[in-house]
Amino acid sequence: MLTDRLRNEFIALLGEDRVYTDPDTLALYASDETPKSCTPEAVLFPAGHDHVAGIVRIAAREKLPITPRGAGSGNVGGALPTRGSLVVSFECMNHILEFDPDNRLMVVEPGVVTDDIDDLAATAGLMYAPDPGSGAYSRIGGNLAMNAAGPRTVKYGSTRDHVLGLRAVTGDGREIRAGSRTTKYATGYDLTRLLIGSEGTLALITEATLKLIPAPRQIASLRVCYASTRSACEAVIRAMRQPIVPYALEFMDSRSIEAVREFGMAEGLPSGTQAILMAEVEGDREDIPRYLAALETALRGDGLLEVQSGFSKEEITHLWTARKSLSHAVKKLAPLKINEDVVVPVGKLAELVAAIDDMGRRYNVPVVAFGHAGNGNLHVNIMVHPDDAEEMTRARDCRLELIETVLKLSGSLSGEHGIGSEKRAFVALEFDPTTLELMRDLKKLFDPHGILNPGKKLPD
Ligand SMILES: Cc1cc2nc3c(=O)[nH]c(=O)nc-3n(C[C@H](O)[C@H](O)[C@H](O)COP(=O)(O)OP(=O)(O)OC[C@H]3O[C@@H](n4cnc5c(N)ncnc54)[C@H](O)[C@@H]3O)c2cc1C
Repeated sequence: MLTDRLRNEFIALLGEDRVYTDPDTLALYASDETPKSCTPEAVLFPAGHDHVAGIVRIAAREKLPITPRGAGSGNVGGALPTRGSLVVSFECMNHILEFDPDNRLMVVEPGVVTDDIDDLAATAGLMYAPDPGSGAYSRIGGNLAMNAAGPRTVKYGSTRDHVLGLRAVTGDGREIRAGSRTTKYATGYDLTRLLIGSEGTLALITEATLKLIPAPRQIASLRVCYASTRSACEAVIRAMRQPIVPYALEFMDSRSIEAVREFGMAEGLPSGTQAILMAEVEGDREDIPRYLAALETALRGDGLLEVQSGFSKEEITHLWTARKSLSHAVKKLAPLKINEDVVVPVGKLAELVAAIDDMGRRYNVPVVAFGHAGNGNLHVNIMVHPDDAEEMTRARDCRLELIETVLKLSGSLSGEHGIGSEKRAFVALEFDPTTLELMRDLKKLFDPHGILNPGKKLPD
C-alpha cells in the first residue's frame, strides 16, 4: 500500500481526482491484453508534462517502480504492473496540441487515440501512416513505446518512420527534447528513434511531433488464392521485387483458412485454397489500373487458383471478409493463444511457413500463421487449453523451436508487438552478450534507479 505521506504528496502535485488507490480502480489497471495480472499500489492520471516530471522525481527519490500505460491493449505484458508499482496512465493527456498541414505535422500528447490522429489529418488530405489493428482504441504513447505497425507498414514503414521529435522525462526526472520539426535532421544522436520502441523503459514520452504524408486518393484490393503456402510465399517475393510497392500485402496460411471455414466466413473461396494473399495498391484514380495490373502479374504464378479484384468500398470490404474475421475464428480453436509476432526476411517466408506447419503436426497443437507478408512479419498463434498440462508443455516446446527457427532464418522475435515481460527471456538468444551489455548500459544512463517499467524489454 502507498503510505499516506506519499499519497498526500501525489495529491498535492496532481490533485485529489488524479490519484487512485481504491481496490476497484487498482483491479481495472492490474492487467493488459496478456492473461496475467498484478495489482499496482496506485494509479495516477497526470494532466500534462509537468505532472509526469513531478511523478517521476518523487518515484526516483522513493525508488518506486513506474508502469506507464496507454490503453492497455498491448499483448506482451508491456503495461502489466510489476509488484509495488505505480501505474501512470496517460489517458487524460489526450490533446492534439497542434495541427500544421503546411508543414505536414501534428503535435500530440501521448494519450491521443491513434485513429483520431489519422482522422484529423484526413481533413487536410493527409494521413498518419502507421495503422495498427488496435488503432480505434490504442493510444499514440503506447504506439510510440512499442513501435507499432500495421498493413500500411509494407509501403510506409512503422511508427519510428513517422516521428519527427519527442518530449520525454527520463527515470531520474530529467526533461529531454529529441529530434526537431523538420523532415531532415542530422544534429546530435538520434534519441527519437532510440526512445521509439523502448517500451517505457528509458523515458516517459509526454509529447510527440508526428510526420504526416499525403493521403491516398484511391485504393484497390486483390484477393489471391493459392493451392499451396509455398506458391503464396513465392508470389510475395515477386510482388516485393517489382517497382509498385503494395499498400498492403497480407497472408493467411492453410490453418487460418480452415479456422475461417469452421467459423462460416469462407464463402466464395475456391475449393483447395491453402493460402491467401490480400494485396492493395493506392494512387491517383487514373494510375490504379496500371498499378493493380503490375501487382497482379507479380502475384500470378505456380499454384494460383483465383484472383479477385475490388475497387469500391463494398467490393474491398467483401474481399477482406475472411482476413478480418480471422481473430474471432481463431479464438474458437482453443481458449488460450500463445501469440508470437515473428519476422523474417521475405525471401525466407516460405521456409518459415513450412517449418510452422511441420511444428504444428509434430507437437500436435493447432498453430495458425497469418500477417504482414510484405514485411515477412507473421502472427503465429499456438492454440492451447491452459488446464491441459501436457498440451501446455508441448506448446511451450513448439514456441521455443519457433523462435530458434526464426533466428536461424536471420529473423527477429518481434515485428510489431514488442517484448514486454512475456518475451524477454528469449532476447538473449537474439543478441550477443556485448550488444546486450550496451543496451543495459543505455538503460542505466536513462534510468539510473531502474524504476521505469522494470522487468520489461531486456532479460534479467
Ligand atoms: C485486437 C488487437 C489488435 C492489435 N493489432 C496490432 C497491430 O496491428 N499492430 C501493432 O503494432 N500492435 C497491435 N496490437 C498491440 C497493441 O495494440 C499495440 O502494441 C499498441 O501500440 C499498444 O498501445 P496502448 O495504448 O494500448 O499501450 P499499452 O498497451 O498501454 O502500453 C504499451 C507499452 O507502451 C508503454 N507506454 C505507454 N504509454 C507510454 C508513454 N507515454 N511513454 C512511455 N511508455 C509508454 C507501456 O508501458 C507499455 O510498455 C493489437 C492489440 C490488440 C488487442
